Amino acid sequence: MKPEYSVVIPVFNEVESLPEFHRRLSQVAGKEGKTWEFIFINDGSTDESPALLKAMAGKDKRIRIVDFVRNFGHQIAVTAGLDSAQGRAVVVIDADCQDPPEVIPELIAGWKKGYEVVYAVRSERAGETWLKEVTAKLFYRMIFRITDVKIPLDTGDFRLLDEKVVAVMRRMRERHRFLRGMAAWVGFRQIGVPYKRHARFAGKTKYPMSKMLRLALNAITSFSYFPLQLATYLGFLCAALAAVAILIVIVLRLAGSEAFFGQATTLVSVLFLGGVQLICMGILGEYVGRIYDEAKGRPLYITRDDADSRMSKGD
Ligand code: UDP
Ligand code: MG
Repeated sequence: MKPEYSVVIPVFNEVESLPEFHRRLSQVAGKEGKTWEFIFINDGSTDESPALLKAMAGKDKRIRIVDFVRNFGHQIAVTAGLDSAQGRAVVVIDADCQDPPEVIPELIAGWKKGYEVVYAVRSERAGETWLKEVTAKLFYRMIFRITDVKIPLDTGDFRLLDEKVVAVMRRMRERHRFLRGMAAWVGFRQIGVPYKRHARFAGKTKYPMSKMLRLALNAITSFSYFPLQLATYLGFLCAALAAVAILIVIVLRLAGSEAFFGQATTLVSVLFLGGVQLICMGILGEYVGRIYDEAKGRPLYITRDDADSRMSKGD
């Protein structure tokens, strides 16, 4: 039978946090009543998380495990959770207790009022480095400015989605995913609920700077052509500069001046234009690479179950 609520939890090396997280989630689910399923996605953990999840699933019948054959990344792990969730409302939450499970009833309250997307807004973040806090703040504001989709400020993936929204998102199979943008893009009735983001219960962040940068690039390229248009703006700017420079040089020459003779001027202008062109090509490359990835049409993720069922079918 379909459960009322599904909880999607991506897990990458969270063995220290899982028992505490499960305890708190169970408490919340128990208080709320109704039927629940907890979908843990093991995103290729290299610690004891998979074994612990199995042991937990043995004791708690609400638990289902989606087991990836390697690390595919947080956004893909959440996608796999959404793909297999059966609940009428689906909550996406991190396994490290940074998003407190105790906020889930508030999300459910919003859903019961008729909102189809209830996202949690970080009014405060504890236990983050100032660098992460500043870059995150800047990032959300920049993305808000340059994209057409109005992605709510300071929201992560912690949110509740109605089954209708999940059904729509399942049809969006893009590879470079920015789920909070996709959830904003689909529309429907949406509302935010403020909450305090806590410090990690245990362990270190699994989002190093490199992964954050990639997520930011995916967010920008998925929802905006602005970087591509930048080439046009830069082109006009350079052309305008050149026009002014030509006039100045002509006037100086007619006046008999010897300014702007020689190699240095040539070198500076060639390097400047070369730089501008390489940057524009790099930007183009970001988009072309993504088109290439989409064209390959590989599956978004591979689970152990997929691999096993294929073997038994003999293909
Ligand atoms: N995570 C994942 N795959 C990854 C990285 C992270 O499934 O490649 C999970 C991680 O276990 C956690 C959630 O995604 O449940 C958020 O990651 P994390 O807490 O490290 O990110 P932060 O909160 O520091 O931004
Ligand atoms: Mg975290």
